[in-house]
Amino acid sequence: MLVSKDAFPVVSPEEMRVQREYTEKVRTILSVKYPGRRPKAFVHTYGCQGNVADSERIKGQLFEMGYEFTEVKEEADFVLFNTCAVREHAEDRVFGNVGALKPLKMKNPEMIIALCGCMMQQPHVWERIRRSYPYVRLVFGTFAVHRVPEMLYNVLRTGKRVFVTDETKGEIAEGLPVYRDRDFKMWLPIMYGCNNFCSYCVVPYVRGRERSRSPEEVIKEAKELISLGAKEITLLGQNVNSYGKGSADGVNFPRLLEMVNDLPGDFKIRFMTSHPKDCTKELLDTMARCEKVARHLHLPFQSGNNRVLKEMNRGYTREEYIELINYGRAVMPDLSVTSDIIVGFPGETYEEFCDTLSLIEKVKFTSLFTFIFSPRRGTKAEKMDDPVPYSEKSKWFSELLKCQEKIAAERCASMVGKTYEVLVEGFTKEDDGRLTGRTDGNINIDFEGDPSLIGSYIKLKVTKALNWILSGEAVID
Ligand code: SAH
Ligand code: SF4
Repeated sequence: MLVSKDAFPVVSPEEMRVQREYTEKVRTILSVKYPGRRPKAFVHTYGCQGNVADSERIKGQLFEMGYEFTEVKEEADFVLFNTCAVREHAEDRVFGNVGALKPLKMKNPEMIIALCGCMMQQPHVWERIRRSYPYVRLVFGTFAVHRVPEMLYNVLRTGKRVFVTDETKGEIAEGLPVYRDRDFKMWLPIMYGCNNFCSYCVVPYVRGRERSRSPEEVIKEAKELISLGAKEITLLGQNVNSYGKGSADGVNFPRLLEMVNDLPGDFKIRFMTSHPKDCTKELLDTMARCEKVARHLHLPFQSGNNRVLKEMNRGYTREEYIELINYGRAVMPDLSVTSDIIVGFPGETYEEFCDTLSLIEKVKFTSLFTFIFSPRRGTKAEKMDDPVPYSEKSKWFSELLKCQEKIAAERCASMVGKTYEVLVEGFTKEDDGRLTGRTDGNINIDFEGDPSLIGSYIKLKVTKALNWILSGEAVID
């Protein structure tokens, strides 16, 4: 039996009621402003799935206020960018895209332009928006997601610019409406924030301290998703292994996973992201035991060198990482492992980088997300000596990609002739009319098929591997 303890503060019912009142007020204003039609909102999300989940809640609120959604900025009455601050490149893209909105705003002066997300938690960013982008009317940070009705009301009512970037304790807002883009692959946030302060990372500064949702709320939402037809539920958090820490009800991440697994239904469970320092054998055993949990572990190691790992403040060694993977594969022989890597951390030497290469060769990851170090304001690594030029880091980066491509090609070749169950996700990126399905291990296989298969599980036999792209054909049982 579950015991609710509310260890982490939630937004009060009174505050949620106030927001619902604002929803009604905005709905009335919009019906007068746009008679006979729903105004259109364009919402674009940068960055991680945490942002995607926030956007689904923002869109839920916009929908209740009377908006419908468009993929075409030019025809939008409301444009929102949900931003990412993890790397400079993501920030540059946001500034570029906000700049490109100026002519649209001039053509349509009624257009409301808004920015939210991690970048908006950084004072130097919102100062720049305030100064240099006067046509941006609304700016809000990651702690204000549930206050969209109030903020929009103030913009519409006063015509003034609204900036809500204040620090709060990061109360968890339960019961928000959610507008989901897909009805079979769904995101389920289980915790927010991060306490780890990896020395390169801005996330703890822009997302605040770790807060876990109560198990009751997680299970309630999981049941809702299943009843909506979810075929895959991904549990989300910056470090899901920390789930429940600091809460009195004793439900840790493995236990939560088991509880979701026990819910009846035909669906798979994924989760991300796991941190090696908190990834336990208990979690791996639980994965092995739970038939609905995909045999896929995303476990970012960042660097294969112990000195660099220490400087990164990651809290584990190369040897401990390898031991975890070995244990995972012992209890789940078909376990697929993916990871994140940073190349060119300040002070990293070529020899140290080679330890990353050797770890890749040893572990043989299914796929990798690789990044060149990007200094982030306010982090410890920003102030570290960084003597290796970017051009040199780019060379290391290419070397790393080549190494992984070879491993991926070998793995793909070994899959030819075998049959896998996949969830058919949609059309291929190539837009060639073919479909793509994802295996339990998070590997895509493309095939010819009827679009009515999208959203269902089918079996595919792999017929061809072209480097790391797999083709298959449906197997009829
Ligand atoms: N919470 C997750 C990931 C958060 S950010 C974790 O700890 O694994 C996603 C990835 O972006 C990180 O794993 C890291 O590889 C990369 N990243 C974060 N900060 C970065 C920086 N300053 N420069 C380059 N890559 C970075
Ligand atoms: Fe950033 Fe580290 Fe937290 Fe991941 S665990 S979000 S890399 S500080």
